[in-house]
Amino acid sequence: MPVPLLDVNAQNLPLAGELTAAFERVLHDGRFIMGPDVAALEAEVAALLEVPYAIGVSSGTDALLLAFMALGLGPGDEVLCPAFTFFATAGTLARTGATPVFVDACPVCFNIDVEDARRKITPRTRAIVPVHLFGQMADLDAIEALAAEHGLRIVEDGAQSIGATYKDRFFGEQSDFGTYSFFPSKNLGGFGDGGMVVTRDEGLAERARILRVHGGKPKYYHHLVGGNFRLDALQAALLRVKLAHYADYTAGRRGNAAYYTEHLKNLPDVAVADPVHCRCAASQDAWLAETGTKLVLPAAYPHNGHIWNQYTLRVIGEGRRDQLRQHLTDRQIGCEIYYPLTMDQQPCFQHLPESSRQGCEIAHRLAGEVISIPIYPELRREQQDEVIAALTDFLSPS
Ligand SMILES: *Cc1c(COP(=O)(O)O)cnc(C)c1O
Repeated sequence: MPVPLLDVNAQNLPLAGELTAAFERVLHDGRFIMGPDVAALEAEVAALLEVPYAIGVSSGTDALLLAFMALGLGPGDEVLCPAFTFFATAGTLARTGATPVFVDACPVCFNIDVEDARRKITPRTRAIVPVHLFGQMADLDAIEALAAEHGLRIVEDGAQSIGATYKDRFFGEQSDFGTYSFFPSKNLGGFGDGGMVVTRDEGLAERARILRVHGGKPKYYHHLVGGNFRLDALQAALLRVKLAHYADYTAGRRGNAAYYTEHLKNLPDVAVADPVHCRCAASQDAWLAETGTKLVLPAAYPHNGHIWNQYTLRVIGEGRRDQLRQHLTDRQIGCEIYYPLTMDQQPCFQHLPESSRQGCEIAHRLAGEVISIPIYPELRREQQDEVIAALTDFLSPS
């Protein structure tokens, strides 16, 4: 039985009636740019994340770009950015003219290593962009402390983590912006591109709204240069249908993650990542060697409400990850490498100063060891059993 990495139809087709009704409503309304569905989705996302302002935008990438533009980041500014992330985080920073300074990753949760961020602060550092990778929040307390100490802006890239929590918070007390994506593979997956920017600051919200429409206010009078960063009315209407079911999607992902962990953790040479090794690769290495671990299962920190956008394994041993990828592919089991190349290793960033591309050794290792397996909410137990059987067979070939 093939097991896809993601099956959007399994989630969307049961809602076909509601989705079609939403489409027809917008069709008959005839207002395809902004309008009531965009405003309603913004209000619903603001309520979900317990923030006063949410601004619908054209993608998660544009959400980042808009946030950076609203903060006025540009040439001469340095911004602390995880080396281990999706390209958009770093790409949008570069597009503002700011210099991304790449920061190493935690070997347990894969998120930004705040101690390494601290080492990379200079008088030109203006902001930090924690990414809540794979559905788990970065260490907001430490990030806020660092930002307060050095007067840094905070933009949270929550593209993979809409609704995830850190100590019961959805969004940092001191963060300027949170950005989200509705790309179909994200936890709240839309029907094309879409995104959202949130903030607690009324002035920043206003600036972001103006920049979303080319920086014009009133229309055709431009004090700022913005872009077309609008969310389609149609996309908003369809997303509202799915948002009503969002709690079920999260519950499904959490159930699937628990099932994998339960059935994999007792296999020989398998261990769940231990949060005691947070940010300390050396102590984790000693533990891996001592226990002879060959496959590390992902851990959720007790203070985090993980929403499992990905269930990401680490395969220990030279070349073993790629062997596992082949092994799963041969069995028609979907898998993906998020991400095979870190930001400091990207060809387009080689012109950046050496100082912004150094000290990302853990991120480099992760890029060689990680592999994500199917975790989408509608995944059936028989399919998970198939994945578990394939992993069992990989670890101890029969
Ligand atoms: C998906 C993603 C983005 C970009 O979102 P799009 O909607 O695809 O533009 C940005 N950052 C991270 C971490 C992502 O996973």
